[in-house]
Amino acid sequence: MISGDVLSAIAMTEPGAGSDLAAMRTTAQRTDKGYVINGAKVFITNGLQAELVIVCAKTDPGAGAKGVSLFLVDASLPGFSRGKGIRKIGQHASDTAELFFSDLVVPHDALLGEEGRGFAYLMQELPRERLGVGAQAVGATEGVLAITLDYVQQRKAFGQRVADFQNTRFKLAEAGRAWRWQKPI
Ligand SMILES: Cc1cc2nc3c(=O)[nH]c(=O)nc-3n(C[C@H](O)[C@H](O)[C@H](O)COP(=O)(O)OP(=O)(O)OC[C@H]3O[C@@H](n4cnc5c(N)ncnc54)[C@H](O)[C@@H]3O)c2cc1C
Repeated sequence: MISGDVLSAIAMTEPGAGSDLAAMRTTAQRTDKGYVINGAKVFITNGLQAELVIVCAKTDPGAGAKGVSLFLVDASLPGFSRGKGIRKIGQHASDTAELFFSDLVVPHDALLGEEGRGFAYLMQELPRERLGVGAQAVGATEGVLAITLDYVQQRKAFGQRVADFQNTRFKLAEAGRAWRWQKPI
């Protein structure tokens, strides 16, 4: 993965389980031939291209967060399928897709770490990722506001700058207050 030879994804989110990850319904049942995975995931970054997917699934559905385990899943295995790509307004360098697992059998050694510790592994890393996503969102929003401020000062309509229309000023004041924007227009 580090050398770029394998493109990967991590599949946690489900249609009914996002922030509340412990509510996931995808299961991985241990059998003699391996783990049998059934379920569906949504909003998976690199979902359309990934060759290796870390799939989060319940190995003990009655144990809540303590029943979650992680699996290294080869996306070429039978029972692994990809849905359509989801259209986004940004982050076009990566795709976002649905994934489906139907009686997907992975070997016992596809288990990543210990059984039942998957949720704990995720919680070790997710706060850092969420902080990054938050910083990205603030940066992008400030950037959009800066471009808009520039535009409304340059563009003229009906004989005046767009920045001089009262409604434009209301809207910008609202946006500026939300983001503590200091720059006067
Ligand atoms: C571009 C993109 C890429 C992504 N990539 C991945 C990926 O690679 N792998 C992956 O597993 N997931 C991925 N995700 C999914 C992401 O992790 C989830 O979107 C995130 O966890 C939030 O889940 P959710 O969208 O289901 O919303 P939730 O946060 O679960 O919210 C669902 C609903 O409940 C409401 N709600 C939630 N909490 C509360 C509360 N405390 N009080 C009141 N209302 C509440 C919300 O307002 C919303 O209406 C991606 C998402 C996006 C947008």
